[in-house]
Amino acid sequence: MKLTVLGCGTVSLTPDQACAGYHLTAGRHRLLMDCGGGVLLRLMQAELDYMDVDGLLLSHVRHPDHVSDVPLLLFAWNYRVGGPREAPLLVVGPPGTKEFIEAVHDLFPATNPKSYQLIIREMFAGDVPLPGARLRVRPMRHGRVPAVGFRLDERGRSMAYSGDTAYCPALVELCRDVDLALLDCSFPAGRAVYDSHLTAREVGRVAAESGAAAVMITHRYPVGSDAEVDNQIRETYNGPLHLARDLMSITVGPATGRPEVHGEDR
Ligand SMILES: [Zn+2]
Repeated sequence: MKLTVLGCGTVSLTPDQACAGYHLTAGRHRLLMDCGGGVLLRLMQAELDYMDVDGLLLSHVRHPDHVSDVPLLLFAWNYRVGGPREAPLLVVGPPGTKEFIEAVHDLFPATNPKSYQLIIREMFAGDVPLPGARLRVRPMRHGRVPAVGFRLDERGRSMAYSGDTAYCPALVELCRDVDLALLDCSFPAGRAVYDSHLTAREVGRVAAESGAAAVMITHRYPVGSDAEVDNQIRETYNGPLHLARDLMSITVGPATGRPEVHGEDR
């Protein structure tokens, strides 16, 4: 299982961070988790093929920093030189996902699938069986916006993604004994601009309570320093901790190792 960070950014735009997007390779599955602005360019920079994506997991569809590249992706699947997409696509997200995709189709009729089947599963909680893998969907707490977190288990390896959420017991359960927890870490505690996200201190709490073997923090607003965030997490969590940045990839497993950064010699 391999996770590639395509965008670790937020709505508070910065030049080195695309908005939210992560690519997960697990067995035969190629999953794109969220697809905000800049994510498709990053996907190509990571030398991943957008035609190979077979599942689109959307944590929430009401905030463009998590979905604004979706219309472009649907359009690209229809009109790529070399032929349109033919493989079926699974979209999983919270209630409102179907309405969002239909609104995209209404606004941009050329995004309607020309030659492939689009399967949309919307839910707050449930399991989606995938060949050789298990996808769990659980409700998160993101203000008034319907939001979910995801967990994928495949061949004894596992990773969980919080999407955007405040602290909630469902997130701790989602991350229970997971190999890698990819967590919203929007602000240092005491400096949160919005209360619908995790603070660094809460990230430490989720990590410690869940027994996650390793943690990657992401979705950081430009508030506070790495050291400040690191110190707050370390109040309760002592395990491996990675700070996401765009184009970083990490192999997920019992020995989740050091992340590699694409195109850099380090
Ligand atoms: Zn959000």
